[in-house]
Amino acid sequence: MTFQQTLREAVSLTGIGLHSGTPVILTIKPARANQGISFVRTDLEGTPHVVAHYKNVINTQLATTIGRGRISVSTVEHLLAAFQGLAIDNATVEVNGPELPILDGSAAPFMEAILSAGIESQRQIRPTLVLRRKVQIGSDDKWAIAEPSGQFEIHGSIEWKHPAIGYQEFHYQEDRTEFEELAGARTFGFLRDVETMKRMGLARGGSLENAVVLDDASVLNPGGLRYADEFARHKVLDALGDFKLAGVAVRGFFRLHRAGHDLHSQLLAAIFKDADNYEIIEGSAEERRPRRMRAALASGFVAGIR
Ligand SMILES: [Zn+2]
Repeated sequence: MTFQQTLREAVSLTGIGLHSGTPVILTIKPARANQGISFVRTDLEGTPHVVAHYKNVINTQLATTIGRGRISVSTVEHLLAAFQGLAIDNATVEVNGPELPILDGSAAPFMEAILSAGIESQRQIRPTLVLRRKVQIGSDDKWAIAEPSGQFEIHGSIEWKHPAIGYQEFHYQEDRTEFEELAGARTFGFLRDVETMKRMGLARGGSLENAVVLDDASVLNPGGLRYADEFARHKVLDALGDFKLAGVAVRGFFRLHRAGHDLHSQLLAAIFKDADNYEIIEGSAEERRPRRMRAALASGFVAGIR
């Protein structure tokens, strides 16, 4: 995929906010090339917007929240993961409240909505951030590493002393993994924490309909898990979404262990902090090669090569 993409037409979804428990209407609209992803709060006067960019991250507890001035939009990561997984570069997301609907706790409903609207190729080439050297943050038991690779890939691993989780890992490779393989992986939480959060006025909309919930021994959802390694898949899904906040496509290998929204945005900040860490290219090497070849052919330098 070489050119930027947007949606063919607008599409709406409705659901409840995980923390507020109130209904939310979300509309995803096509946007011009080079506009990126922006969120518009239609419930606020003047319908202010905020761009999906790591510099606009204002909170990473429980979910990724972006904001600017008086506007904030929370729980953006699963929709951003769908944009990342389907290679959508440009979209305007209208929402009539402070958080996106949680839907089933995964990115699958967003993916289906975008696919039903259709994906349109645009004329401009997709700019890509290419990692040039290793960048590492975190500690011995929780870390995030980015290093050069020929493609965008994420290896996510988790370790929980819990009979239903234990050690799990999932390796997403842009060239090999279909987004469908992890789009349906749901967010998860522990019954204990959900009860505490509800007392604090959070997770009011949280239920077995929109999360995998565990007690001390097992998964409480009647239908069980969607994948044996659903927890690891969801961690990688979250990372796909959070790395969309780079604002451009990304090429590099991200290795994440027990990471979360905080480490994801800190890693992006660490990469962008030093211009020697990366390069932003317009189109891939494979795409540039034919252009150089065409130029060489035009100049007669490699005449005869087919
Ligand atoms: Zn998540």
